[in-house]
This record gives sequence, C-alpha cells and structure tokens, in this order.
Amino acid sequence: MALIVQKFGGSSVADSHRIQHVCNIIAKTYDAGNQVVVVLSAQGDTTDLLIEKAKELNPCPSARELDVLLSTGEQISVALAAMCMERMGYSAVSLTGWQAGIETSSEHSVAKITKISKGAITRELEKGRIVFVAGFQGIDAQGEITTLGRGGSDTTAVALAVALHADACQIFTDVDGVYTADPRKDPNATKLDEINYDEMLQMVNAGAQVLHDRCVILAMHHNIPLEVCSSFTGNPGTLVHSMAAQKL
Ligand code: ASP
Ligand code: MG
Repeated sequence: MALIVQKFGGSSVADSHRIQHVCNIIAKTYDAGNQVVVVLSAQGDTTDLLIEKAKELNPCPSARELDVLLSTGEQISVALAAMCMERMGYSAVSLTGWQAGIETSSEHSVAKITKISKGAITRELEKGRIVFVAGFQGIDAQGEITTLGRGGSDTTAVALAVALHADACQIFTDVDGVYTADPRKDPNATKLDEINYDEMLQMVNAGAQVLHDRCVILAMHHNIPLEVCSSFTGNPGTLVHSMAAQKL
C-alpha cells in the first residue's frame, strides 16, 4: 500500500463546489488502494480577508494574534473537506497543525518546521481514514500557534511527505504545472514536463509563485519528487526532481 501526500491550494478549495471536486480526486486516490494525507490551504482569498479584518481593528496587530487568526483559514478548509468526504461515505478526519504534531520555531509569521511527531497521523491512517491536515501552521515549544509564511502550505505537504516516508507528494494548483514564465501574464510561456530542484528554486527566487521556496529546498534535501499539477484540468503536470539541469 502506498502513502500519498496531496496538497490543494486556495483556489482549488475556494467554494463548496471546488471542495467537492477535490474530494472526488482524493476518493479516487484512496479507492486505488492508497493511504492518503491531504494538506489544504485556506479557501480562495481567505488569508487576505483575515488580514484586512485584523487591520480594521488594529493597523499593527501583534504577530502572535495574527497567527492565531490566520491559522483559522486552513482549519475551515480541512473541516469542510472532511465533512464532504464523510457524506461521500469515506472515513476522514481533519487535524490542525498542532494536532498533527507539526512543531516549529517561535518566529511568528515566518516559523520553520523543526520536527513532526507523526503519531497522531499514523494512528488515523491505521484506522483506514483519509487524514486532512491544515497547512501553513504549527506549534512552538511554548505551545503557541505559529504560521510558516505566505504560501507555506506547500512546505507543510513536503515536510509531511518526508516525515511519513510518503511514496509521492502531489501539489495541486490552478495551473497545469510549472511554466517557463507566469502563464497568466505571458502568452508565450510553455509548460515544462520536468525540472530539477535548482532550476525550480531559481524560478521561485525570481518571483514564481507556483511553489513556496522552503518547500523546494526541503524536497531537494530529502530528494522527494514533487508532482505539480492542476486540480482543475486533470492534465499531466510537471515533475520537480533531481534530474540533470536543462537550459530553460
Ligand atoms: N493560506 C496561506 C496563504 O494564503 C498559506 C497557503 O496558502 O499556503 O499564504
Ligand atoms: Mg501557493
């Protein structure tokens, strides 16, 4: 039995219709005989809207309180998706970052994952459940809620794939994979079938938002191949892995 980590970004879970679609993808993976751990981002613009709400009341909120607030976005997504799976007849459970054993440094809003105590996730998988983990968040040594920086759910997914020795880590997004340039801005951008970690990191450092920088670094250090694909089209995506460099 293979263990697959699947991560879905904010646009992939933006509303109930999209969550239902994502749950169909997850169900297919589970029905193929796999154990599935799913990491979700906050729905659509939720994180931005929460920041706006905070600033209406305090233009400079403390980083601690902002993390408590922003972590709720991902919790909404995982709870809704688990409920959707239940209705479809699957056994599923949602876990916050701290319930999932994701331990971090104490730098609010830019915390780094330091350790994953995987007992809770493993126990749920052993019960045959699909496990949903709230992305982008963890808990520090003092028990404080932390977040990993914007786009950090990608890093949650790769860190879980490393800790659980997953067989695959699939990052679902709203584009068909990694392009030579931003396909939403450049009509000449072409999709890459594969790319190596260094080139991916260069693109991310140059502003490509398709993956979180630390997720690429983590995947490179642990040699975890990342499959970046669209949750919308079902087209083959891009494999980010340790192949020889190609000229982009
Ligand atoms: N929800 C967070 C953000 O909007 C984290 C993520 O989506 O990965 O940045
Ligand atoms: Mg992202």
